[in-house]
Amino acid sequence: MKNLWNDAEARNFKGDLGLRVYTSRLLGRDKSLVLHGGGNTSVKIRERSLLGEEEDVLYVKGSGWDLEIIEEAGFSPVRLAHLLKLARLEALSDPEMVNELVTQMTRASAPAPSVETILHAILPYRYVDHTHADAVLAVTNTTDGEARIREIYGDKAVVVPYIMPGFDLARSCAVRFPAGAGPKTIGMVLMNHGVFSFGNSARESYERMIALVQLAEDYLAHRRAWSLPPARDGTTGKPLRRDLATLRHGISGAAGFPLVMRCHHNERSLSFARRPDLREIAQGPATPDHVIRTKRVPMIGRDVSAYARDYRAYFNEHAPRAREPKTMLDPAPRVVLDPELGMCALGRTARDAAMAGDVYAHTMDVIERATLLGGYRALPAKDIFDVEYWDLEQAKLRKGAKPPVFAGEVALVTGAASGIGKACVEALLARGAAVIGLDLNPAIKGLHQREDFTGIPCDVTMESEVTNALEAGVRAFGGLDMLILNAGIFPGGTRIAELTTEEWRKVMQINLDANLILMRSCHGLLRLAPRAGRVVLVGSKNVPAPGPGAAAYSASKAGVNQLARVAALEWGEDGIRVNVLHPNAVFDTAIWTDEVLKARAAHYGMSVEEYKRRNVLKTEVTSRDVAELAAEMCGPAFAKTTGAQVPVDGGSDRVI
Ligand code: ZN
Repeated sequence: MKNLWNDAEARNFKGDLGLRVYTSRLLGRDKSLVLHGGGNTSVKIRERSLLGEEEDVLYVKGSGWDLEIIEEAGFSPVRLAHLLKLARLEALSDPEMVNELVTQMTRASAPAPSVETILHAILPYRYVDHTHADAVLAVTNTTDGEARIREIYGDKAVVVPYIMPGFDLARSCAVRFPAGAGPKTIGMVLMNHGVFSFGNSARESYERMIALVQLAEDYLAHRRAWSLPPARDGTTGKPLRRDLATLRHGISGAAGFPLVMRCHHNERSLSFARRPDLREIAQGPATPDHVIRTKRVPMIGRDVSAYARDYRAYFNEHAPRAREPKTMLDPAPRVVLDPELGMCALGRTARDAAMAGDVYAHTMDVIERATLLGGYRALPAKDIFDVEYWDLEQAKLRKGAKPPVFAGEVALVTGAASGIGKACVEALLARGAAVIGLDLNPAIKGLHQREDFTGIPCDVTMESEVTNALEAGVRAFGGLDMLILNAGIFPGGTRIAELTTEEWRKVMQINLDANLILMRSCHGLLRLAPRAGRVVLVGSKNVPAPGPGAAAYSASKAGVNQLARVAALEWGEDGIRVNVLHPNAVFDTAIWTDEVLKARAAHYGMSVEEYKRRNVLKTEVTSRDVAELAAEMCGPAFAKTTGAQVPVDGGSDRVI
């Protein structure tokens, strides 16, 4: 466990709250301590109110903030005296508690305080740090975890048996902490949940956290339970995409909506998924913080209907004893362990899938270490149920905003690094899709730094490159729902009499042949799209209204147009819709430099502005206009349309 405190860095943070920000970020940097918004920290500060009265305010991490990137604004200021009074109540429902926390803030615009706020309030130290450290969980989540924790910490930490987060846990700690704490106490361990440290300075509290976690690591190391079993390389070059798309299809069917699925086909996941004792050890989450992201238990193998059946049984067993009526969540898994695939993590968005994967990667570490120590023991199913179906989670569900139109779906765009393709990527991301962008230009890799985009350099005329790109794209997102065929070239005007065979073939290869390769390669995946596949081809006004000097281009686009129409006929039985849009005069693309534009405008005796609006509506057509139409053609407005050709050209008198 590395102590990341650095005096030079710390000097950039001013005041008590500033240093609270600094050490919170240090905790957030270490993923074995906290993951994706997990963990929380606080500082108690005496302030003078507007009325001139002194009061103690607890600044506690606001919900929705991630410790790694938290700022001062991410801490919610709550009146400490009120929190301490609440902690003495006999009972308080969690929704009531949340209301009390929010209504006692001294800044109305602050984020809602963490549900663990009262826990921070009752610890009588200025700084309080709380993590769900892997090493501590590896010890607490064993059959004799509590005895081991007491052995490790002695009088350094107060130990609290598992109670789900919320008021009851805070109240229990309010009683147990003062009763158990002594002069040597520097922390508190919550069984099957995590660890608290505290101190009178930010540094002291942080360093005590590191020390406490280090003790757990040392304990594991002394019992040969720290080093993970060596991972054997079980990765294969074998294509997995059909298997993955089939699995995602099945899971999305069970969920009732499409899910993004990220496949972790690496040594670590495969070694875990191939353990002979997998069924025994791959139990539920290690801490309540992980429950929502990974669900009750992972699915082992690929029998989705059996998993869904077990999930319904689990719901029916535990829901009746709950005080409030519960709405069943979808019965689909969020983590799959399979000896061939490795670990697959799912989510409604690519970000959720990435988070589930990260969480389970840490869960595997915890499970393997606990197993080496004598046996992993997850929380009983009823406790997991209480967290999964917590009033607060159910309320979020009821309030839940409608997901974006392409949530959980995956799109592939060719020619995605610039112009219309780049705009298509943006239009699809904005509608909630995960997007695979292909482009000859290697800059495609860095087009977007976000979980829901993967950029793959690819020459679409090379079948092997297309195959590799599809394999990588499906491993990243689980399948393919939408295909936007945009890549193409527009060579300068050459009359037929001068058109070389080489140029003709080159244009055909890129504008026509490559699209056949892509469509053929994607068909099997599109058939497995949970909501049926969609294909949009970027045609051209030249299809209905060709111009002189563009024989190869016009012929290639006419060819692609026919390819699309035949695909619409052939693939209709699979529910796959294939439509074409015909743009014209889209000038905000790489081929139209200012010089070319000026020259063309001069050729027609027009200004550049007039030339750009040379259409019936006298309007400029941009890449964004084309991209918006392409995205809409994949959406519900075109649900009953296939084989259509829609112009996006401001109206052409030659076409109309
Ligand atoms: Zn916690």
